[in-house]
Amino acid sequence: MSIKKRIYILEDEIDVANLVKINLEKDKYSVNIYTNSSDFLTEVSKQKPDLAILDLMLPDIDGIEVCKFLKKDGELSKIPVIMLTAKSEEIDKILGLEIGADDYITKPFSVNELKARIKAVLRRYSSNDKPKEGLRHIDDYTIDFNKFEVTYKGQKIQLTTVEFKIIDLLSQKRGWVYSREQIIDYLWGHEKYPTERTIDVHINNLRKKLGELGEKIINVRGIGYKLEE
Ligand code: CA
Repeated sequence: MSIKKRIYILEDEIDVANLVKINLEKDKYSVNIYTNSSDFLTEVSKQKPDLAILDLMLPDIDGIEVCKFLKKDGELSKIPVIMLTAKSEEIDKILGLEIGADDYITKPFSVNELKARIKAVLRRYSSNDKPKEGLRHIDDYTIDFNKFEVTYKGQKIQLTTVEFKIIDLLSQKRGWVYSREQIIDYLWGHEKYPTERTIDVHINNLRKKLGELGEKIINVRGIGYKLEE
């Protein structure tokens, strides 16, 4: 028997939260609802969920601040986060460097779409649990597949899971051009919910974080990206 995955939902609209809870429980998830951020954060520090769904607009601390808090903390940053947002123009910010959510869904959303995103995010994380053989070195950079870390001259660079997987993919065959679609497939499987633009956002963040190595991630017009040799 497999252990139920635990999902925390932070959402002050109780009808929305309940609808999500009922539907996810049908899929054998165990779901806790929190209607304010303080209760959520208290609980998270006691027991980590397998995934958190955070609404943006909340009565006390907003979802963005909650996500930032989680992603800054060593242990808590490993919790996959899906943000619920009303405005699609907030996406860049939500997936960006500062906030670092793993995915988002725009309100109003269908429960099926949310379920698909949850599955995709969880799969991404669980595939990261599988150890790959050792280390890959590029100049002064080391990509560590056991720790899912990139270091520069021994200093750890803080990357999101998505960013790590992008540099992992691009560095597998240097000079090889990967299309945005291939990158999406690699990251999220065949559910193509994220747009190609989402990839650009992640890659821009990754470039900034990686410094010199980031400068070698080249956009090939009309096709995709490569890591220059
Ligand atoms: Ca709300």
